[in-house]
Amino acid sequence: MSLVTLSGFPRIGRRRELKKALEAFWRGETDAAALAATAAALRLRHWRLARAAGADVVPVNDFSLYDHVLDTAVLFDAVPERFRALQAQDPLAAYFAMARGHKRDGLDLRALEMTKWFDTNYHYIVPELDAHTRFRLAGDKPLAELREARAAGLAARPVLLGPVSFLLLAKTTDGSEALDLLDGLLPAYRDLLAALHREGAEWVQLDEPCLVLDLSPAARAACLRAYAALADAGPKRLLASYFGALGDNLGLAAELPVDGLHVDLVRAPDQLDAVLDTLPAGRVLSAGVVDGRNVWASDPDAVLPRLERARERIGAGRLWIAPSCSLLHVPIDLDEETRLDPEVRAWLAFARQKIAECRDYADALAGAAVPALDARRRALARRRVAPQVRRADVRARVAALTPEASSRASGHAQRRRVQDARLALPPLPTTTIGSFPQTDALRRARADNRAGRLPDAGYRRVLEAEVERVVRAQEALGLDVLVHGEPERNDMVEYFGEQLDGYLFTKQGWVQSYGSRCVKPPVIVGDVARPAPMTVAWSTLAQSLTPKPMKGMLTGPVTMLQWSFVRDDLPRAEVCRQIALALRDEVLDLEAAGIGIVQIDEPALREGLPLRRADWPAYLAWAVEAFRISAGGVADETQIHTHMCYAEFNDIIEAVAALDADVISIETSRSRMELLGAFADFRYPNAIGPGVYDIHSPRVPEQAEIEALLARALEVLAPDQLWVNPDCGLKTRGWAEVEGALRRMVAAAHAVRARL
Ligand code: GLN
Ligand code: ZN
Repeated sequence: MSLVTLSGFPRIGRRRELKKALEAFWRGETDAAALAATAAALRLRHWRLARAAGADVVPVNDFSLYDHVLDTAVLFDAVPERFRALQAQDPLAAYFAMARGHKRDGLDLRALEMTKWFDTNYHYIVPELDAHTRFRLAGDKPLAELREARAAGLAARPVLLGPVSFLLLAKTTDGSEALDLLDGLLPAYRDLLAALHREGAEWVQLDEPCLVLDLSPAARAACLRAYAALADAGPKRLLASYFGALGDNLGLAAELPVDGLHVDLVRAPDQLDAVLDTLPAGRVLSAGVVDGRNVWASDPDAVLPRLERARERIGAGRLWIAPSCSLLHVPIDLDEETRLDPEVRAWLAFARQKIAECRDYADALAGAAVPALDARRRALARRRVAPQVRRADVRARVAALTPEASSRASGHAQRRRVQDARLALPPLPTTTIGSFPQTDALRRARADNRAGRLPDAGYRRVLEAEVERVVRAQEALGLDVLVHGEPERNDMVEYFGEQLDGYLFTKQGWVQSYGSRCVKPPVIVGDVARPAPMTVAWSTLAQSLTPKPMKGMLTGPVTMLQWSFVRDDLPRAEVCRQIALALRDEVLDLEAAGIGIVQIDEPALREGLPLRRADWPAYLAWAVEAFRISAGGVADETQIHTHMCYAEFNDIIEAVAALDADVISIETSRSRMELLGAFADFRYPNAIGPGVYDIHSPRVPEQAEIEALLARALEVLAPDQLWVNPDCGLKTRGWAEVEGALRRMVAAAHAVRARL
């Protein structure tokens, strides 16, 4: 019989208990013992839940108080020098200091960096290494969690981040090569494996997600060296790959001396035959057949034939059945979603349901009758024809798209002339990115409105008053292009999703973004369409209050896609086009209502890049096309802006230029305008607003600093290309800081203008 396993479970808890426990601890309201008790209770609950749902073996050490990469760094003593003193006194404080920084009792410790975990919306803590890093086994977390699970009577498999991925995910602070540290790291891994063996672990899972990336020869060599060194070190080793196909690394993965291989058959179902052909005799295949990255129920008619094929080749005993990757990336339990239409709920599966699906497949493979599979088949058959899933009008509109739809009537130079004539802006025009402070009063009004304590009309009056306040404040500050401030928005994706057909919202569908931070992504369940204008009333209200140009504010199609759970029955490109058309209607309605400038935010464009370089061009082509569809309908004199937050622009600059936005704003203040190099080298022709101060910090910049940044920008940009704006939206800041900073920003722009 095939074993049902999983490589990781969400940590946060179905009521976000871990978040609450962490934040109470950080505020000093509870002690370390209380935090540890909550963490232990969650682990036990999750193991039991996985077991009850049908897992034969549960993962341990997938749990983390903050992040599993940070855990790995601490476990192997890769702790930067600046944290050592604190660590000697209080290891837990040092752990959180590495994650979040630490400012107390005259001590000011900078946190480690954080970055996205592969192409997910989970962020990990980047280990800081240098040529002098000395690794050793400095903790017993995996051992302790193994003991805990066994004490609860469960069969458990410790999960470890593999040594090569660990090094590739780290950064060095001295310019040395992280992979050069491998030989120093392997003895520590060996010690750990030996300890796990002594503790009675039969298997250990070594995650090497780097195996689905383009690997350098050095990285491939590192894999060979690492796994040769770990070959005789203790428990059997399951080498886990996920988030894509092994591709050109399949031969390498098969060559490594391990006892089992986990592969992702959701992202890369087509690799199964090649994997079966390559897998050495006797090795276990852990088949990741249920999507660990998305919320959809799996299709038995797609999954079972795959499993049967695998079983024929290797036998049931060597075939394990699992989700494609850790379930960290999906919410815990669909049963919480009592408000969902039961019809739609039957199309979905969260972590618990996904384990149950694996159980169903194992049982069916073993010859049992599994009624749940037939129920699922029926539900999915209904999904395929459900009217909210498939809309003829939307399909026809996408099918009728022509290349003209994604092009402005004229080139940028011509548009620029008519826009200049219409808008009559000074050189170095000043503006903001859209949002103004979301005050406590605003949040309270929104909460009251949602809870039914504040009627819609009253809530609307609060928002209208806020728009007026924002407009008056901007006039007083002397900004050139104004915004309405986005007081009506809780979140830049949710706000639009709630007004579009095709989106669905969950009650408890939280997933961890980083540390205690969770997001509740909307679910794109059906064809997307816009039943009515979404922002026009707010923008026209704001424009009616001032003679200055008002900038309309929308979230772009790629970002709407990227920050949602996207349907799995239509290519992402197609879903993106549908969203783009809905936004295009909004842009045209804003234009018709007299709004002369529309900003379409695309902060997530870069993060949508596929893991393999070879897949970049196809992605960038449809992502750029979607943006252009949303913007392409307006007349020359309507100015299109986009905002892209912080991104590495060098290798996507061509695509960014192809967006053909009249003005792009980006985050550049912390890099001291260095990011502009990519635009300058490319001779980027349209206008750019490189952020002149960091909105992530409460610090109000000096006017001279802003002037200096503008001077740097003018070294690489022409004066008529340059706009002046903050790095990003202001919603997380307080009014006092915002007014202080913008006053200096405007003064700096005036001073630099006078010298042009
Ligand atoms: N217009 C949005 C704001 O100002 C943009 C936010 C973002 O870039 N993430 O808040
Ligand atoms: Zn931003």
